[in-house]
Amino acid sequence: MTYTDPNSGLTESLRPVVSSTGAVVQFHTSAGIVYQIQAHVLPYLTGSVYLAPSEDGWVLIDSGCGDSTSNADLERGFEIVRGEFDASFKIEKIRRVVLTHAHVDHFGGVYEWSRRCGAEVWVHAFESRLVNSYDTCARVENLRYERFLLEAGVPSEDVQPILDGFGFRPGRVREAEVSRKLYGGETFGAMKFLYLPGHSSGHLAILFGDVVFSGDLLLSKTLTQIWPTRMTPQTGALNYIFSLKKLEKIAISFEVRFGKKLTALPAHEEPIEDIPRRVETVLRGTERRNQRLTTVLRDSETPLSLLELTRKMYWNGRPNREFFALSDVGSRVELLLQLGLLEIVDSERLTRESPVLRYRTLFSNAETTENTVQQVLRMYLACYDSDTI
Ligand SMILES: [Zn+2]
Ligand SMILES: [Zn+2]
Repeated sequence: MTYTDPNSGLTESLRPVVSSTGAVVQFHTSAGIVYQIQAHVLPYLTGSVYLAPSEDGWVLIDSGCGDSTSNADLERGFEIVRGEFDASFKIEKIRRVVLTHAHVDHFGGVYEWSRRCGAEVWVHAFESRLVNSYDTCARVENLRYERFLLEAGVPSEDVQPILDGFGFRPGRVREAEVSRKLYGGETFGAMKFLYLPGHSSGHLAILFGDVVFSGDLLLSKTLTQIWPTRMTPQTGALNYIFSLKKLEKIAISFEVRFGKKLTALPAHEEPIEDIPRRVETVLRGTERRNQRLTTVLRDSETPLSLLELTRKMYWNGRPNREFFALSDVGSRVELLLQLGLLEIVDSERLTRESPVLRYRTLFSNAETTENTVQQVLRMYLACYDSDTI
């Protein structure tokens, strides 16, 4: 294995080599050869698990969802790595499983693969409990989600089916010991761990030479799922946008310093070669959704619950996706409420038995206002980029 300085200019591009079946792609990064293995991770989703070299073996980045199809996909991927690319590879050389975050499509296989490889498990501190105490977390979080759904206006008889569709249930993921809690800022060989929360409370991206393993923070085609902070701390639209801007800033600094682009290798979809441009596009998409939300509220003759608002914005007849849609709109409503652009009506009628929150917008068509993303970016600049004292 050769390690090269990102400044060496040896890697003009990642020179991808695709395996015969297309399930594995080899990338030549400036810090060494990386393999991307495609695996089924949820019924409707494929993901990428990566193998990156370290001084004493290999690091597996994420672990699939842990069901039999996902595990078989990874097993086949490891065989392809050995059979088509690197005859010396074997799974016992995987010394660490590092999780970008503890969502089931990324860490469901962590018990299986850390056991089979004899590997350590590294995860951000904020998500270590999900890895080693998943069942407790699932029970407690589901109570919180239930409350969120009731306040959203979901009829009580529909709450459990929606939660079942989401599938955060005790026993789904086999718990594993966490060997090392990360906080962000640590380095390990050529790797540097970046704490970029928003999509999850302990989301990590991992810099590695001229690539960054970006997990679910930035995807090449779709907008990343976001959640309200009241469901999960350190998530929410504001944290998510802050993290996107931090990633953009890192990518710009990288290009200035090394004279080439930093490429994102995300956990779903395609590599992203122009991170700043993709961040811009995502922020525009974010603003479009926020505007659509305010337009739907403004055009409604009556204030709307989160469920009514979500159905008007997104309803596509797929109940198994309803929790995701409610969470997405819920996170935007939370931000707009924080910014003083929405209000909750009839609060005097709220009771424990009748907790449905209804919203209306506070700004009119004619009002020209700085858009919501611009307001958040102003806060980002004040927090992180201000040189003024
Ligand atoms: Zn995720
Ligand atoms: Zn994911």
